[in-house]
Amino acid sequence: MGKLTVIIPSFNEEDNIENTAKEIGTILEGAGIEYDLLFVSDGSTDNTFKIVKELSAKDERVGGIQFSRNFGKEAAIFAGLDHATGDCVAVIDCDLQHPPGILVDMYRLWEEGYEVIEGIKSKRGKENPIYTLFTKMFYGIMSSLMKLDMNKTSDFKLLDRKVVEALLDLPERNTFFRALTFWAGFKSTSVSFDVMERKAGKSKWSFSGLIRYAISNTTSFTTAPLKFVFILGTLLMIFSLVLGVETLVNYFLGIAADGFTTVILLLLIIGGCIMMSLGIIGHYIARIYEEVKGRPRYIVSEITGKNNR
Ligand code: UDP
Ligand code: MG
Repeated sequence: MGKLTVIIPSFNEEDNIENTAKEIGTILEGAGIEYDLLFVSDGSTDNTFKIVKELSAKDERVGGIQFSRNFGKEAAIFAGLDHATGDCVAVIDCDLQHPPGILVDMYRLWEEGYEVIEGIKSKRGKENPIYTLFTKMFYGIMSSLMKLDMNKTSDFKLLDRKVVEALLDLPERNTFFRALTFWAGFKSTSVSFDVMERKAGKSKWSFSGLIRYAISNTTSFTTAPLKFVFILGTLLMIFSLVLGVETLVNYFLGIAADGFTTVILLLLIIGGCIMMSLGIIGHYIARIYEEVKGRPRYIVSEITGKNNR
């Protein structure tokens, strides 16, 4: 037995808060689990936090944090981990796409002694095909790098306090929660769930937002793109050796071509490769710059409820 803190990242979810709190509350209460809810309003500009405050006034198990602006779901999750008081902590979406009933299964597994319980999507919900293609590509790369099937992973997880402390000890600012729990290790298991339809409101992801998310997660997790730069360089080197020998031979045989077109093409190709490689390296330098600045991951503007630390 122990208390479960449920972290609910919420960004402009005014139509969901009340229903979500009620549904999760009813299910956990029905299962006899001691719990509290921690809504992290990620700089919502609608009534999200107002509703959380009202709920929290009525029920002391409901608490909330309001960010000073939108810092992203990743920051919201980590703020939740920072402030959670439970012996175990779960993260769930505010739109009930993660069925709250699964929380009970996760909690039971935690009672059995598991320290990380991953929510694995048995099938993805309805999505637009471009989105699906894009996530397939991104998770394909991540999966091969991490040697696990990232396509089915989600942010829906339950963690033991020990794991929460381990994640909070990480010094970096650019985190990727979904993969970090695998990286952290511990005694893990998984529960599969069907992704539900969003209850109310719209998905907060724009296409460009997703691309940025994918790039930032890849580079925060792996230096594989830098190895790609090296491999590209090596291939060009071999190519230039072959071409160089051929050119010299032709020159001495006196059959060298005029070669203006060749020169321009080579310049463009090599120039392109150099610029692209510089871009990749530059991106990593930018990440180092961000980390070195050491700015906080998020800024809290308001807190409500007793279940905060
Ligand atoms: N979310 C957040 N900050 C953001 C974007 C989203 O806290 O900048 C929350 C959002 O309120 C929801 C969860 O993250 O609870 C998942 O977001 P959404 O449903 O928009 O994404 P999808 O389910 O479409 O991947
Ligand atoms: Mg959703």
